[in-house]
Amino acid sequence: MNISHIEHLGIAVKSIDACLPYYEQVLGLKCYNIEVVEDQKVKTAFFQVGQTKIELLEPTSEESTIAKFIEKKGEGIHHIAFAVPDVAGALAEADSKGVQLIDKAPRSGAEGLNIAFLHPKSTCSVLTELCDHK
Ligand code: ZN
Repeated sequence: MNISHIEHLGIAVKSIDACLPYYEQVLGLKCYNIEVVEDQKVKTAFFQVGQTKIELLEPTSEESTIAKFIEKKGEGIHHIAFAVPDVAGALAEADSKGVQLIDKAPRSGAEGLNIAFLHPKSTCSVLTELCDHK
């Protein structure tokens, strides 16, 4: 797949506002973008840490997959996202190796990324995202 780095870590939170003081005042990171992704029913907040970002995910609706995740597992790390040069190619490779795919084809995510998710059943229980900047 030619993964270059961890693009971001997705962290499910009930309230971005409630978490900002920890990330900004304790860790000293700067939130550089807050964005609502309507079709995902989430509000996202981004922090840059070296090459990697932290993405806070707050549900904007009870139907949001993030709301369901928090209900089931509580707040915390939701997914890990790897940067690859070509999401479609990486998906095809995962598929050929028997990995269960959530997304059969890349779709657009926050920050203009092409993204696709692999199913936790096939990834040692960690929801895994692949993304590229094409
Ligand atoms: Zn993500």
